[in-house]
Amino acid sequence: MADRGTAATTVQRWSVGDATITSVVEAETHHIPPEFFFPGVTAADLQRQPWLVPDYVDADGNIGLRVQAVVIEVAGRRVLVDPCVGNGKTRQLPFWNDMTWPFLEHFADAGFTPESIDTVVHTHLHADHVGWATHRVDGEWAPMFTQARHLYTERELAYSREVAAQGAEDVYGDSVAPVLAAGLADIVAEDADLGDGLRLEPSTGHTPGHVSLWLERDGEQALITGDFLHHPAQCTEPEWAEVGDHDPDQARATRRRMFEAAATSGALVVGTHFTTNPAGRIVTSGDVWRFEPV
Ligand SMILES: [Zn+2]
Ligand SMILES: [Zn+2]
Repeated sequence: MADRGTAATTVQRWSVGDATITSVVEAETHHIPPEFFFPGVTAADLQRQPWLVPDYVDADGNIGLRVQAVVIEVAGRRVLVDPCVGNGKTRQLPFWNDMTWPFLEHFADAGFTPESIDTVVHTHLHADHVGWATHRVDGEWAPMFTQARHLYTERELAYSREVAAQGAEDVYGDSVAPVLAAGLADIVAEDADLGDGLRLEPSTGHTPGHVSLWLERDGEQALITGDFLHHPAQCTEPEWAEVGDHDPDQARATRRRMFEAAATSGALVVGTHFTTNPAGRIVTSGDVWRFEPV
């Protein structure tokens, strides 16, 4: 990778009816060779989509990826979605291992304290979507968002346990189990109505229990994607599987279904790993989809 992650310092915030969505960035990395995340996809393939330059792809056809959480403020609630990689976690990827990101500083800059979060939603339990749920206290992993209910789906919990049992890193053990042990977890259905216009939709494929989050307020809609897509280029190329997709064919079908729903509804789509301008709309352009940042 050509450069180390740098984090945007400007707070990005969008309105959806009377609700607001705020991005809190952990890291953003540009100039990544596309085959690192999309096996078989080349820089030349990216250069065939010039609309991606410069926000999402550089002039050489290399891609950018951001790791960010979003906070949804609605009806007096603060809902945190996908709290990133976290600090001090033992991870196989060198650029996620034992990090010291200034994420909590960005969180404070955006006007939030950990204690002010009342709900934590994980689209799935990969390392880059759960990290800040825990931090080290006296050498032990302890919940960070001590006033929040943390929502998990049964299938995703089972998958996370299974991966931890086989693997070289223990995301379940360091970032999920301490939350369950503290009594801060709720198991919810993959299509759970979370109230106040918040609703989960199963978007399986990337992981077995993956969900995305819809918000509807005053007739306006938003969709927090999670990892059913990683990059805006996949709007035009929904067949491009990401290296971490558990069931690539199911992930492809999910992308098509979700793109159709997002395009039809005109929802504000917040791409969990999108760089620079992560919010926009999925529009049809001829016989393909495209992402139009707002
Ligand atoms: Zn993932
Ligand atoms: Zn991810």
